[in-house]
Amino acid sequence: MPLKNEILNRWLGRTDAPAEPAPQRLPQVSEPAPVSADWNMQLDEEGRVTGISKALRTALGVSGAVTPAQRLLGYLMPSSALVVEGTPQDWLGHMLDLDFRRPNGQVLHTRGWVQAQGSDWLLQLLDIGDLMEQASAAQSRQQCLRLAGQLAEKVRGCHLERLQAVTAEQLEELAQNYRVPCLALALAEPGGVGWRIYAHYNAQTAPQLWQDGQRLGTDLDSLNSTVTHQIDFGAPVAQVHLQSAFGNAEGFLLPHHKEGSIKAWLLFGFYNAAHQAPELGDREWMNLCAALAGPILYRQADQVHRHQLERLAVLQDLLGTGWWELLPGGEDIQLAPQLARTLGLPETRDVLALDAWLQLIHPADRHELESRLSLLRDHGTAMLSCVRLRQDDPGQAPVWLRIQGQVLVSGQVRRVLGFMLDVSDIKNQEIQAAAAHARLDNLIASSPAVIYVLGYDHGSLEPTFFSASLTPLLGWTQAECSDGQLTQYIHPDDRDIWFQRTRQLLREGVVSCRYRLRDKKGSYHWLLDEARLLRDDLGMPVEAVGLWLDVTDATQATERVRESEERYRILVEDSPAMICRYTPDLILNFGNRPLADYLECTPAQLPGVNLGEWFSAEQKEAFLRRIDDLTPESPMSTAEICLELPGREHAWWIWADRGVFNDAGELIEIQAVGRDNTEIRRTRMQLNQSAKMATLGEMATGLAHEINQPLNVMRMAVVNVLKRLSNGEVEIDYLTDKLNRIDAQVQRAARVVNHMRVFGRRSEIEQQLFDPIEAVEGTLNMLTEGMKGKGVDLRVGEYGERVQVRGHVDQLEQVLINLMVNARDALLSKRDKDRDFEPWIALRVEQDDQTLWLVVEDNGGGIDPRLLERIFEPFFTTKPVGVGTGLGLSVSYGIVEQMGGRLSVSNASEGACFRIALPIALV
Ligand code: ADP
Repeated sequence: MPLKNEILNRWLGRTDAPAEPAPQRLPQVSEPAPVSADWNMQLDEEGRVTGISKALRTALGVSGAVTPAQRLLGYLMPSSALVVEGTPQDWLGHMLDLDFRRPNGQVLHTRGWVQAQGSDWLLQLLDIGDLMEQASAAQSRQQCLRLAGQLAEKVRGCHLERLQAVTAEQLEELAQNYRVPCLALALAEPGGVGWRIYAHYNAQTAPQLWQDGQRLGTDLDSLNSTVTHQIDFGAPVAQVHLQSAFGNAEGFLLPHHKEGSIKAWLLFGFYNAAHQAPELGDREWMNLCAALAGPILYRQADQVHRHQLERLAVLQDLLGTGWWELLPGGEDIQLAPQLARTLGLPETRDVLALDAWLQLIHPADRHELESRLSLLRDHGTAMLSCVRLRQDDPGQAPVWLRIQGQVLVSGQVRRVLGFMLDVSDIKNQEIQAAAAHARLDNLIASSPAVIYVLGYDHGSLEPTFFSASLTPLLGWTQAECSDGQLTQYIHPDDRDIWFQRTRQLLREGVVSCRYRLRDKKGSYHWLLDEARLLRDDLGMPVEAVGLWLDVTDATQATERVRESEERYRILVEDSPAMICRYTPDLILNFGNRPLADYLECTPAQLPGVNLGEWFSAEQKEAFLRRIDDLTPESPMSTAEICLELPGREHAWWIWADRGVFNDAGELIEIQAVGRDNTEIRRTRMQLNQSAKMATLGEMATGLAHEINQPLNVMRMAVVNVLKRLSNGEVEIDYLTDKLNRIDAQVQRAARVVNHMRVFGRRSEIEQQLFDPIEAVEGTLNMLTEGMKGKGVDLRVGEYGERVQVRGHVDQLEQVLINLMVNARDALLSKRDKDRDFEPWIALRVEQDDQTLWLVVEDNGGGIDPRLLERIFEPFFTTKPVGVGTGLGLSVSYGIVEQMGGRLSVSNASEGACFRIALPIALV
């Protein structure tokens, strides 16, 4: 090529070398084309051809003589017509590019110029066929380059969302330029294995070969190696039949290399590059391919990169974390914007001095961080540390940051970077958990409980963990309890339980048992062992978690309770007293043997029996009333109860009840102890009776007078009647009057006798309600006449409102008679000494809402104060032997007490004053 240009220049008279075409633009021609300097034509002044050199003839395929007067135009292609307008004179100094027609239809490209030869002209020609060819090739190459540039620009400049559509448009552009029926760009699958059509173009006339998104499998990879092998780097133009890529069509494909491997394929369907675009070399094709695939891959990578950055930003935002990097020199640190925000720095301040950064850290953690940081910076020791931010408000929860750092070396560059993560949540939870854990540990350590874990290994369970409470509790260390040693600490009697426990734990997954375990000092502890087997997802045992509770005290206490219960049971069973428990509606829950004996059944038959069955209606009512009065504050009550037992007349029991109450204060059960008092009661009744008889005996004098009086009246009446009868002056009226008087006296005597008979009777068993005034009147009936006869003044007070008391009217009368007779005795003995003495006895009734008092007072001088306390003792008397019995007051005391009342004595101004206090019965 340079050679040809040189010639041209020489011929053209140019001395300066023409500009060489850019070597990269025009392909190098391997050999210079032959120069034909002897091509010429003779022309006349009109431009008609007069001769043709031999060489030119051969080139043009002209044989024979030159046709006379044929114009030059006759030899040329029509396209050259313009060049040869006019006459040769006009062409002088011009370069003439002339295309000659060849007989075979081919064209001979020449460049020539005219020279004057006398009057004729010589047209010298040079074959520029090869030059033309090169120029056209260069042109198409340039076109190709332009196209490549356009493609790249379009793809590079479009909006990312339109990238695929624009790629398809560019494929169409490319296809139309080189008449490609089907064209597609395949990129690697997102996962990296296989290929997928990214965009494609299909001419309307061509069959549809591909679709967007179509998978091509990995067959293209097999080409990869061949291709790379064929030409190290650069451009294979492979003409292939690749079923997976082209079906049955003939295809041509271009790889796009990046970083040493193929990243994209440009696929040409129904296309033979060599035939259909011969002007394009490998390099052009590769350029086109690179122009399209390069920016797409770049933009895709860029998008991936941007997404990653966005994700990182979101992640940093969400976690309150971010990267940091020590800037070269190590004096400054750069922080991710999110991190700067977390640290409370203005967003624009992402670079700050290392010291300023350290100042943000809590003083307690600052030195440690500083030291780790310098280790990282100076020695490359990777850093991980958890630090608190400096806290300006001590009330706030601390902000904890996890700081990690490492050194990154790439080539000569050494960077120190890492990240900071806000771990306050975790750290605070961790601290709380640790505190809770410590509390729990402390609790366990100080409690009589040991928590243990048993590892499971092929059916055996071996301790792998004991809580710290093991040693304080049992003295053993964890090591002393492993490797099967535990078994030997188990009490020999409990070993069966121990082995059974393991089997049950494995079989049923849970176990609870008690056994004795020896501590290091040799004493045994009762342990309550509760364990549970933990299984994995597949149901296979993994480990067992259990708890030992030292129940020695509890077990021993239970044992003691059991023993004591046994003792009490024996006590209750063997007690001569009746012991029972019953509900508030008198149903027995339990009764011991003595009770059963009384009720003539066995103890086993007692539960369910109603105690009320043995009471009279009054007794039952009184009993229930008493039970009703029990309260948690005063749960005790004692009474003498009377029962009608089978085969017995009456039984009197001294009965002590104790109420058992629930938390709500409701009476739920009564425990009672009873003692048979029948004998004592009977004796006392006999005593009462004897005392009563004694009273009667003492009253005999009075009574005699009482009966004597009517007898005297009657005798007088009879004597008088008889006298009248003997005088014969008997009148009916007189007789009637006397007889009536006698009748009245008979009735009076009968009343006295009758009252005495009633008084002398044994008292009723049951207490009754009665008006105490009845007893007062009965007493006065019996004693008034006798007292009068002895000259004792009886002063009876007014009765108040009539009320009722509970007891026996005859017994109260007996008490009153006793008191009056005692008073009379004291008065008479005083009058024996003093004839002028005027004795009196006052009987008063006093009362308030609840109590009625009967007061008997005399003026007999009272009782020696030293004897006051003793006068209620049985058999205490100051009277001569044979006169006093010493029973009167003691029996009276008992009677009043039986009635729920009280008999008391005091010395009044002139004599003794006895007071009977009786509770008024509420009717
Ligand atoms: P008795 O009358 O058989 O001696 P009591 O038990 O009735 O037995 O009385 C006991 C004693 O109390 C009497 O012996 C007497 O000394 C004393 N006593 C009782 N009542 C009076 C009274 N009104 N005044 C003085 N002494 C009395």
